[in-house]
Amino acid sequence: MTQAAAEVLAAKVKTIIRDVPDFPKKGIVFKDITPLLADPAAFAEMIKHFAAQYRNAGITKVLGIEARGFLLAAPIAMELGAGLIPVRKKGKLPYKTISASYDLEYGTDTLEMHADAVAAGEKVLIVDDVLATGGTAAAVCALAEKLGGKVAGVAMLIELEFLNGRSKLAGRDIHSLIKY
Ligand code: AMP
Repeated sequence: MTQAAAEVLAAKVKTIIRDVPDFPKKGIVFKDITPLLADPAAFAEMIKHFAAQYRNAGITKVLGIEARGFLLAAPIAMELGAGLIPVRKKGKLPYKTISASYDLEYGTDTLEMHADAVAAGEKVLIVDDVLATGGTAAAVCALAEKLGGKVAGVAMLIELEFLNGRSKLAGRDIHSLIKY
C-alpha cells in the first residue's frame, strides 16, 4: 500500500471508530473499535494494510493482547502465515506461564503468556488496538524477550500521541495507522 493509500485508509477508519467520552471512567475518551469490526470492507482493508507492513519481516508469531488485540492479531497472523499467541491477564491461561507486571495509574497489572509460546530466536509481532501510555506493550515486549524472542514490530491500530507511549518503547519498530 502506498503512503497516499494508507492516508486515505486512515482517514476512513478514523470516521468509523467511535469516541465514547467518560468510559470506563470520567475523563477518559474510549476509542471504540466495534463499528470497525462490524464493517467488513474497512476491517479487511485495515488488516491487509497491517499485514503488508510486515509481509517480508520473517515474523513467525503474532502476539495479541487481551482482549481487543486478539481481534486484530488473529486475522493479521493468518495473512502473514504466522502463529497466533494470546497474551492474557493473570490467571486465565491454563498451561505453564511466564509473566510481566507493569504500572497502572493506581497499582500494577500482570500479563501472562504460555511458557512455550515463543521459541528462542523467533521473530514476533505485537498487536493491540490502542497505544496509550505504552506500559502494556512494553510488558509484552518483555514477555517475548524472556523467551528469547525478537520483537520485529509493534502494531497498533490507534496511537494516542499525547500520552507518549513511544517513550516506553524506545528503539522498537512501532507502526500505528491512526494518531490522535
Ligand atoms: P497503555 O498500557 O497505557 O498503553 O494502555 C493500553 C491498553 O489500554 C490497550 O490494551 C488499550 O486497549 C487500552 N486503552 C488505553 N486507553 C484507551 C482508550 N482511550 N480507548 C480504548 N482503549 C484504551
